[in-house]
Amino acid sequence: MTGWERLRGLVDGRLRLPGDSGFDEASRPFNERFRDVRPAAVLSVAGSADVSRAIGWSRDTGVPIVARGGGHSYAGNSVNRGLVLDLRDIDGVHVDPSTALVTVGGGAQMRKVYAVLREHDLIFPLGNSDDVGIGGLVLGGGVSVVSRAMGLTCDSLVSTDVVLADGSTVTCSETEHTDLFWACRGGGGGNFGVNTSFTFQARPVPATSTCLVLWDWPHAIDVLATMQEVMRRAPNGFAARIGVSRAAGEDGVVSVIGQHLGPAAELRELLAPALAAAPASRADIADRTYWEAADYLHHTTAGGAFAVRTRCTPAPLAEDGLRTIVTAVDKWPGSANPDGAGAALFTWGGAINDVPVSETAFPHRDVLFLVSMDTSWQPDEPPEVVRENLDWLTALHRDMGEFAPDASYVNFTDPDLDDWRAAYHGPNAARLAEVKRHYDPDRVFSFSQAI
Ligand SMILES: Cc1cc2nc3c(=O)[nH]c(=O)nc-3n(C[C@H](O)[C@H](O)[C@H](O)COP(=O)(O)OP(=O)(O)OC[C@H]3O[C@@H](n4cnc5c(N)ncnc54)[C@H](O)[C@@H]3O)c2cc1C
Repeated sequence: MTGWERLRGLVDGRLRLPGDSGFDEASRPFNERFRDVRPAAVLSVAGSADVSRAIGWSRDTGVPIVARGGGHSYAGNSVNRGLVLDLRDIDGVHVDPSTALVTVGGGAQMRKVYAVLREHDLIFPLGNSDDVGIGGLVLGGGVSVVSRAMGLTCDSLVSTDVVLADGSTVTCSETEHTDLFWACRGGGGGNFGVNTSFTFQARPVPATSTCLVLWDWPHAIDVLATMQEVMRRAPNGFAARIGVSRAAGEDGVVSVIGQHLGPAAELRELLAPALAAAPASRADIADRTYWEAADYLHHTTAGGAFAVRTRCTPAPLAEDGLRTIVTAVDKWPGSANPDGAGAALFTWGGAINDVPVSETAFPHRDVLFLVSMDTSWQPDEPPEVVRENLDWLTALHRDMGEFAPDASYVNFTDPDLDDWRAAYHGPNAARLAEVKRHYDPDRVFSFSQAI
């Protein structure tokens, strides 16, 4: 009997080998930069018992194993050349209306979680893309447009069930396996075990308004500088993505896309300095219900291959820093991917910063902006296009070191980051390593930037 036949006999879920229908869909990384990394098999697990059996089988055979939730890791961390555990069938979402506790299966994707929360008019901070998995999101922190008011996804986590490297299952919370619970709140997915369920504390939906404002490229520096000051003074209810971007053959665009937990009239007042700094080419500022806002702010992408590098800054970037970004976008080498390249200031801070650095594994509790720099290409473009794009991004990330510290968001995973332990985990790196030694001493769960 082959190893695969033995595994097939052990589990209730479906094991697929290359060529089987559904194999690609169940194991392909979202980021096509890593499309050539293909596993030997993918197991769509039926429940936590399958996860435990597969881990035992992997230890017996020496075939590496990796968990795959939504498959959206920027670095392709949920695919390997061994066995991929596809968790997407563990996707139940259960709401207890009396406590507002929401229990979510470890492989549920945003679309399903939003749909069930919507029925109950309850919310906790979530990502804005349909197919991102709850596991990757919460284990790396999880930043939402409401995080300045409500904290990170992991700040709403109350408990989680984890299948460990020895095949046993534990529930961890503030009172049980507290070190593991600490690590599961921002230490990064794929490190300590396979989380088969998460319970969150939800809350009632607030009233909201949204904005989508665009400016022409010559106004980039003025708008960026003004928006940084707007956000420095803004109430926690307002958050935005302040972006500059360019696709090949087109002019650059400046955008502010955001949500305010208050009426549109207030949002218009908050944005007034930026609207006065330069004439907007489009300004859509409107009252929307929470659910209309979620649909409106829904993230879409052309897909393909991409790379993202990040820094965090506790204060507005100096004007020379803004100029460095805008000049780089002007000099972007180009590619055929319509997503193009650019940079964005994601507004963090607020309630995120109310949590002490050592209280959860997520270390970035003193940040005003996540500075995210990105580029994209099509997977069939020549290697020199890929090289030029990656070199461009590396140079921008390096040049921004003068203006923003070496701190990076583990969920915007950057496989080209040198000192990733310090950048992702900061002062929490040593404790994360201890938790890893305790719960996974043989490093059953391993990848290039694993703790
Ligand atoms: C289009 C897009 C939109 C995004 N939007 C946001 C956003 O709004 N906010 C934000 O903070 N981030 C966002 N991200 C980043 C996202 O949070 C990370 O990419 C996240 O890791 C994806 O989780 P996943 O389950 O889809 O990915 P996967 O690739 O399946 O998993 C990522 C890592 O977590 C591990 N993992 C996944 N599930 C489990 C589990 N149940 N137990 C143990 N380990 C697990 C995997 O092994 C892997 O190491 C976005 C990414 C994309 C591509």
